[in-house]
Amino acid sequence: TWAKVPQGPPDAILGITEAFKTDSFKEKINLGVGAYRDDKGKPYVLPSVRTAEQKVVASKLDKEYAGITGVPAFTKAAALLAYGPDSAPIKEDRIAITQSISGTGALRIGGAFLQRFYPHGKKIYIPTPSWANHNAVFTDSGLEVEKYRYYNKNTIGLDFDGMVEDLKAAPKSSIVLLHACAHNPTGIDPTEEQWRKISDVVKEREHYPFFDMAYQGFASGDTNKDAFAVRHFIQEGHGIVLAQSFAKNMGLYGERVGAFSVVCESAEEKKRVDSQIKILVRPLYSNPPVHGARIASEILNDPALNKQWLTEVKGMADRIIEMRALLKKNLQDLGSKHNWDHITNQIGMFAYTGLKPEQMNVLAKEHSVYATKDGRISVAGITTGNVKRLAEAIYKVSGE
Ligand code: PMP
Repeated sequence: TWAKVPQGPPDAILGITEAFKTDSFKEKINLGVGAYRDDKGKPYVLPSVRTAEQKVVASKLDKEYAGITGVPAFTKAAALLAYGPDSAPIKEDRIAITQSISGTGALRIGGAFLQRFYPHGKKIYIPTPSWANHNAVFTDSGLEVEKYRYYNKNTIGLDFDGMVEDLKAAPKSSIVLLHACAHNPTGIDPTEEQWRKISDVVKEREHYPFFDMAYQGFASGDTNKDAFAVRHFIQEGHGIVLAQSFAKNMGLYGERVGAFSVVCESAEEKKRVDSQIKILVRPLYSNPPVHGARIASEILNDPALNKQWLTEVKGMADRIIEMRALLKKNLQDLGSKHNWDHITNQIGMFAYTGLKPEQMNVLAKEHSVYATKDGRISVAGITTGNVKRLAEAIYKVSGE
């Protein structure tokens, strides 16, 4: 029956993990994984998550199905976290929101919703480069993926002019995917000033913004600061859709906690949108899992736990910011002639080193340092224990 099914290529990240596993060198370094590690290189469960989970277990809730849109106490709090307590659409009860299978699931529901109902075409513009899954998720949703310029390889920074030019040139009323903060894979975000300009251009062209916010709080350590772009667009009167993930900022990766929301023009419109989200989700997976959402709900709704969590998110963000500084300092101390400012200018889990695929190959083969060929390294994999060796390896492959 399946004789014609061709062998598919392996996932790029999984390939790196495999190569890393088979390397017998003791001081090997894995900078491929997109998950936070502590300074010992170990996975980290936030203490606030442990406490919240104990509270959930102690409350002996039943295991009945959630509604199609999930755990209401969770989605309500997730919307508040993203849009802020002063948000007009929240006050006016015009945000349709559903729990989702983490950020990926939120993007997929969004893709399906737009494919079915967006009245102005099927084109969605994503940045070059973008998280690799964006292309796949939106293509599988039946949207047509187009690209806008984002990364400038000469400055290892934002190609702001190219981005604006491409957004201006895109057909009127296109859907535009924007990384709300901590752009993956580049770690390069627009400044607040640039976000204002982007909002103006999007408005002028009547584009429809789709925000992917996978790192709220994880980027700067401040959940409000990281929500700047989303909230600015709302203030400017844009209708938007938003995908949220709690994988990174709560370390709930495998629990798959996320939310998808649509900012509507009225409470009445919200009701209609909400009814269609339910019709769309029901045949996909009926309703989402409850455990992770209950944990997130405890953290978001219990004031003391919430405070503790915010401190812990900041702790993760600060460790990453510190590792960036330490990597740059080690490279400078070695006497590297290159400018490594981009390492500390970038933000979030990933640093885009500017290293070429050949150099990444040498990093893996000769130095047992594993990361994706595009030169992206996961800063979360850097520790005070391995940063010196990492800097020496990068120093050598970058031509000193
Ligand atoms: N969007 C971006 C930009 C991401 O980097 C990620 C995680 N790597 C996601 C969405 C979704 O991840 P998850 O499904 O684990 O929440």
